[in-house]
Amino acid sequence: MSEEIILRVQNRYTDMYKEGFPLLSKDTVENTDALYEEGTIFQLQDPGGNFIARGYYGLQNKGIGWILTHKERETIDSLFFQKKIAAAINKRSPFYHKEDTDAFRIFNGEGDGIGGLTIDAFGEYYLINWYSLGIYQFRKEILSALNLLIQPRGIYQKKRFDKKGQYLADDDFAAGRPAVFPLVVKENGVNIEVNLNDGAMVGVFLDQRDVRKKLRDQYANGKTLLNTFSYTGIFSVFGVLGGAEKTASVDLAKRSLELTKAQFLANGIDPDTQEIRVEDVFNFFDYGIKHGLKYDIVVLDPPSFARSKKHTFSAKKDYTQLLENAIDLTEDDGVIIASTNCATFDMKTFKGFVSKAFAEKSIKFHILEEYSLPKDFPTHPSFPEGDYLKVLFIKKQTGL
Ligand code: SAH
Repeated sequence: MSEEIILRVQNRYTDMYKEGFPLLSKDTVENTDALYEEGTIFQLQDPGGNFIARGYYGLQNKGIGWILTHKERETIDSLFFQKKIAAAINKRSPFYHKEDTDAFRIFNGEGDGIGGLTIDAFGEYYLINWYSLGIYQFRKEILSALNLLIQPRGIYQKKRFDKKGQYLADDDFAAGRPAVFPLVVKENGVNIEVNLNDGAMVGVFLDQRDVRKKLRDQYANGKTLLNTFSYTGIFSVFGVLGGAEKTASVDLAKRSLELTKAQFLANGIDPDTQEIRVEDVFNFFDYGIKHGLKYDIVVLDPPSFARSKKHTFSAKKDYTQLLENAIDLTEDDGVIIASTNCATFDMKTFKGFVSKAFAEKSIKFHILEEYSLPKDFPTHPSFPEGDYLKVLFIKKQTGL
């Protein structure tokens, strides 16, 4: 690995880095000109030339690199990556011993000590997400560590660092033996089909595991369920398995129809008994409100930002309106499961959207459940933005 360069922190930011803030941002250091090649290891020094930390240079929308260690003697080499990944795997030991779940996150970026890198287990196959060209420079060390520590059958990767920080389309097979897709993994006893080599998304978002379980085990029985922004329909599958009377899944993407049917079939559910609509959710809301449709449970899980032909949706700006629509389609005493992965606002703000939407409708509500990221997605204490997931189960109460 190349030699490390010295970066001087501006005086007013030294405490922030000394206290453990893990993300390097451009405007906090004096001599960013020294940075030219992603993957370069830098040493952060205070204005007096004292060691603060060591990290790597990598461009992400969030910053220009991540701190890796505060120990002056610790060098960033194969052994470093091996130690971090081993510690992360150790932490997941309960997951490795579960019979009914084999899809989980084994490495969660800065929460496990290396920002810009995540690794997920899908049965015997693993998926690495590289969030910058900088961290991708260490792929040899990281792949060797994985092979040494767990001997995956095969490894896939997503390079999430094109110019806009998005996924770079590629053959995502990285090492080992290729899998046959769809690959069926298990989550709390439910079969989930994934494809690790077909674009940016693999078919499931692992961070919602606890939410799906709760829906199945305590909410779905005997209920009607509307699943909006349904993608591969996994919330609907959990609903049916929990005894839901009927589900309707709505997603704009054409691929969602086949993928959702397949998820039902993988669990012995006849897809023809369920409703699957390829449609803009906002059109469906108009239709539903006009026709007086009502559901016992409405799942809202929109992307942070989406543009369709007629609508631009931004979670930060438009979630209140989305909730208002959902309220109209929810039975009295029904439940809205409102979720967002938008990192630019926190749970308090999210609850504010809920209060506002119900106030607009002059309807009382009650929050029944609250979720953030699950145990296999640990976050960094000095980096609360990393705790992006917010989920609320909200009961719509009768009248005022
Ligand atoms: N709830 C899903 C994940 C949602 S991903 C799950 O738990 O697996 C976001 C989805 O929203 C994508 O599948 C995308 O196609 C869909 N989407 C984005 N804008 C939409 C719109 N206006 N109407 C319907 N679906 C939309």
